[in-house]
Amino acid sequence: MLNILNLKSLRSHDIRCDACGKQFKIKKLKSKQFKSESLKCSYFNCPHCKEIYIVSAENDKLIQMLKEVNKDDSDFFHTFPQDKKLQLLRILNSKRQLVRSYHAEIKQKAKEKLVNKER
Ligand SMILES: [Zn+2]
Repeated sequence: MLNILNLKSLRSHDIRCDACGKQFKIKKLKSKQFKSESLKCSYFNCPHCKEIYIVSAENDKLIQMLKEVNKDDSDFFHTFPQDKKLQLLRILNSKRQLVRSYHAEIKQKAKEKLVNKER
C-alpha cells in the first residue's frame, strides 16, 4: 500500500468529519479487496455518520506505475552527465505527478464502490 498518510500522526489528531462536522479519532483502519477487479483500499469511517474516508488504494496498474517510477529513480541515481540528469528528473517528476493523480482517481473509485456496497 502507498504510504501517503502517516498513520501515527493521523491517529493522534482529532479529525473533523466533512460530512457531519463532528470530531473523532481514528480507532482502526479497515481494508477491502474488491472481487470484481484488482482494486483494494484501506479506509476508515466517521463513527457518527459512517462517512467513508479512503486512506490509500492500489490496483495492478498503480503497482506497475510505481515500479516504473522506482526504476527511473535508480536510473536517475546512476546517471552522471548533468544535462542528462536534468532531463531524467523532468521525466521522473511528471511520472510522479501521474502516479499521484491516478492514485487519487482510484481512491475515488474505491469510495464509490464502498458507498454502493460493491463486493
Ligand atoms: Zn461524520
